[in-house]
Amino acid sequence: MKHLFCDVCKREVVDPIPMRTFYHVREFDLCENCRDDLEAATKFTVRTRQPFDFAWFQKMQLDLIKIGIAKNRIPVGK
Ligand SMILES: [Zn+2]
Repeated sequence: MKHLFCDVCKREVVDPIPMRTFYHVREFDLCENCRDDLEAATKFTVRTRQPFDFAWFQKMQLDLIKIGIAKNRIPVGK
């Protein structure tokens, strides 16, 4: 059986099912919790940014994942 670990929190994803219990974002594997955090963090930032720019969005997403990998958690803006 394949063992899959979340790149952000480093926890093992038990019984990994793509798009169900883990998510592949760019070159990273994220568990459901970390993907939810990423989504919340991007949503919060996107609201402050007009007009929407996809290249900028992708870079922000990558930056958030990198911070998440360093801190074992994606920072969700408050
Ligand atoms: Zn995770």
